[in-house]
Amino acid sequence: MQKLIAGLAMFQARLFHAQRPLFERLARGQAPETLFITCSDSRIDPCLLTQTAPGELFILRNAGNLIPSYGASDCGASATIEYAVRALGVKDVIVCGHSHCGAMQAVLDPSTLADLPAMASWLGHAGAPADGLQATVQANVVAQLANLRTHPAVLTRLQRGDLRLHGWVYEFEHGTVQTYDPDDQSFRHLLPDLTAAG
Ligand SMILES: [Zn+2]
Repeated sequence: MQKLIAGLAMFQARLFHAQRPLFERLARGQAPETLFITCSDSRIDPCLLTQTAPGELFILRNAGNLIPSYGASDCGASATIEYAVRALGVKDVIVCGHSHCGAMQAVLDPSTLADLPAMASWLGHAGAPADGLQATVQANVVAQLANLRTHPAVLTRLQRGDLRLHGWVYEFEHGTVQTYDPDDQSFRHLLPDLTAAG
């Protein structure tokens, strides 16, 4: 905890001061263009990954980056999605799974959930297990994109043609992102891997 308080002190002393105009502007309202849905995993940092500033991403996080079908669970996800899509009018929704996801590992091996009844129940919203962890992570992203479409606010915007859905898998150990291509129903690297060199 001491580390966090020292970090807060450093933030106030250096970063906040340098970016004060941004924070003062944000006090008047937010207009994020993207809803970013990802896992609670501590190794994932959406703003670091996308190099975005406060005010740019509306973020929904939970174990396994799950989006229960509309009406299936009163977990707050529906409210967050509705607010982002209908009130804030985000233009893009990204569902971002990740490599080495513990939640997806548990989907593959439910015996790890013996003492975690809430997690076991929550993972009922996950995609079906596939052949291996990476394939399960990918299949889950695709399943959550389908669940997203059951939300009326999302469906309305999709029908209007002014909302785009994206499925990502972030491989944090490589710094790379794979994106889902619905046309050939497979994942491919979003960018050439620039991290490999050097
Ligand atoms: Zn995870």
